Amino acid sequence: MTQTDVTENYEDVLRRIARAATEAGRRPEDVTLTAVTKTHEGAAILPLLEAGHRDFGENRVQEAQAKWPALRERFAGVTLRLIGPLQSNKASDAVALFDVIESVDREKIARVLGAEMEKQARRLPVYVQVNTGEEPQKAGVAPEDAVAFAARARDEHGLDVVGLMCIPPQDQPPAPHFALLWELAQEARLREVSMGMSGDYEAAVSLGATSVRVGSGLFGARPTGEG
Ligand SMILES: *Cc1c(COP(=O)(O)O)cnc(C)c1O
Repeated sequence: MTQTDVTENYEDVLRRIARAATEAGRRPEDVTLTAVTKTHEGAAILPLLEAGHRDFGENRVQEAQAKWPALRERFAGVTLRLIGPLQSNKASDAVALFDVIESVDREKIARVLGAEMEKQARRLPVYVQVNTGEEPQKAGVAPEDAVAFAARARDEHGLDVVGLMCIPPQDQPPAPHFALLWELAQEARLREVSMGMSGDYEAAVSLGATSVRVGSGLFGARPTGEG
């Protein structure tokens, strides 16, 4: 990918998001594009930062620690979202580095994050990850537990739960999963819904996504076997 490719992809993705939103009777500015930069180095990310983009997602704490402090020194106003699974021994680093945590997927991590945010006096917005496909290998709370879990994360662990996030099964049409996540967010009275990736973000916008997470659609294919 050249810098020009990335810039063109970026403009194309923004156009598609705006069109999907408008066709669904929504306002394009109500959908945030999270540019997923995992596996990509600073040089690949620069075109987006220079174009004024500020919302980014990473799925590993250590990788983000290696990459983002230097970029943040050059570009103010970056919002960095953790979109990958979090181990409790990384919670302290995650709270210090990220601005939003989208992958709260179990009681223990909710508790550890709550304590860590209090300690650091950094109360970050968080999302509850929902395993809409109920896949045994995938992170996330079961759909039937999502509303109660979100309430407990807020009331018992003091988390600022703002929304729900999902990654639908790869071998199924995503739309029913997007519809389910949106329904659960309404039921839980949460305003943010993070869903949709490079292959399906327009469908996600049609079904109410407030944040879509796009990686390869901006930066090209990642090396196989990575994230
Ligand atoms: C990698 C990743 C994405 C982006 O995937 P693409 O298909 O490259 O757009 C989105 N969400 C999560 C949680 C990811 O790990």
